[in-house]
Order: sequence, then C-alpha cells, then structure tokens
Amino acid sequence: MPSVEGHWIEVADRVLVRRHSELDLSVGLVLGDGGCLVVDTRGDARQGAELAAEVRRITPDPWTVVITHSHFDHSFGTGAFLDCPVWAHEACRGDLVANGCAARDTWARWYRDQGRDDIADDIAGTEIALPDRLVSSGGELVAGGRRVVLAHFGPGHSGNDLVVHVPDADVVFAGDLVENGAPPDYEDAAPLAWPAALDGLLGLPGTTAATTVVPGHGDPVGRGFVVAQRAEIAAVADLCRRVASGELDREHAVRLSPYPRETTLTALDRVS
Ligand SMILES: [Zn+2]
Repeated sequence: MPSVEGHWIEVADRVLVRRHSELDLSVGLVLGDGGCLVVDTRGDARQGAELAAEVRRITPDPWTVVITHSHFDHSFGTGAFLDCPVWAHEACRGDLVANGCAARDTWARWYRDQGRDDIADDIAGTEIALPDRLVSSGGELVAGGRRVVLAHFGPGHSGNDLVVHVPDADVVFAGDLVENGAPPDYEDAAPLAWPAALDGLLGLPGTTAATTVVPGHGDPVGRGFVVAQRAEIAAVADLCRRVASGELDREHAVRLSPYPRETTLTALDRVS
C-alpha cells in the first residue's frame, strides 16, 4: 500500500493545515462542535477522496467546503465531499463552468509530459463539481459554531480569489494570493490589482500582528511575510505599468524584478 500523501499541522486552536508534497499544496480544516470546514479540496477526484478520508480520521462531523479559487489544484477534488454546501466566489463557479474542462485537459497533459501518468489519469477522469454557495464581495458562514468570514478583494492571483478568515483563531487562509517557497504564480493573474487584494487581506477586521496566514502553497506565514510579498508584487505591478506605457523595455524590467525571469515575463504578458 502506498502511504497517503500529506501531514497535518495545527496552526491555531482546532485549525489544521494539511501539507502535501505534490505542488507543495496546503489545505485547511476548521473544527467546531458538530461541524467542520474544509478549505480547498486538492487537484483531482482521487486526491479529494484521500483528503476526505484523512478529514474523517479526525472528525465524524458533517463538513462544509470553501474553495479559495478555481484553479484545479484547489478545486478539482470537491466531488469527494458531496453532498455538502460548497462556498466560493461567483466567478469561481463561472470559471469552472467556462474553462474547467480545458484546464483539466491542460493539466492532464502537463502531468503526462512530466511522466506522471498516474496523476494525469486521475485528473482526466475527474468530474468537476461546482460550488453552490456563491459570494460576490464577501460573506459569512458558521461551521460547527465557529464564525468564518469570506472576502473577495478584487482580482489578484486569479479573477476569483476568496480569502477565508477564522477570527476566533486569528487565522487567514489566503489561497494563492500568498505563496511561500516559490514565486507567486501570475499565469492567470491581474498583476496591477494584486497589491490591492493583499491590502484587503492585511486590513481584514480582527487580524492582528500575530495573525497566521496560510498560503495555498508552502508553510503558513506571519503578517510580516505578507507585507514583504505585497511590496514585491507592487514592484512587479509598477514594472508592468512602465513596460505597458513604453517607458521601460522588457529585458530591463526582468533585471529590475524581484522575481525570476519566467515569472516576470508571465506578469508582463498579462498587462498590455
Ligand atoms: Zn492558483
């Protein structure tokens, strides 16, 4: 039997993060009385089922799911948790409807090219489940008696990033608005708007100097990490603006960027 991927860490009172080596992904679990909240569902039907089974080893309580954004690695495992409420930004559902099948093909091909036929097959065989509790600018839910705040601060890493705040634990699940251990991913991003989205996250009422922020990839971080990453993302936004206006050429922008060449060029391509 292959061992199950991932391990839990408890980042605050009854708030857990499951860390995975695959894509360095982090998903969340908020435990309450008689209910729990799962934050993101991993990247395919098998991974989602594995995660659901691991949650079941911790709690028998009914679960609610929230999806931080529509990218496959955060949302394609949702089917394993149904039937249950699935929260997301309204544009997350829209993106999954419009582009989910194309994303499934793209990532199945990507894994096949990496020689990972097992994951490629799992993705290709995944039925994409859609969120049914949709928010636009934000909302609230209660899971197991714990209040959870959902907030959307405009486009950033994607067009549908949803921040998940657990005020009683002082924990924020940031999705891929924050990335630890690798440069932020601009593939589907709005580089000019991203800094404002992070300002929204940093300004969430009830957050403190001690707030724990859980990125979509990498280990949990503190507020200082987010402030520093916000400065880098703002620097990239400035470079994008200057290249778009003709003030700066692309190679010069690459040299000035806080991020590697490929990351910077991807960001520049998103702004014209
Ligand atoms: Zn993403």
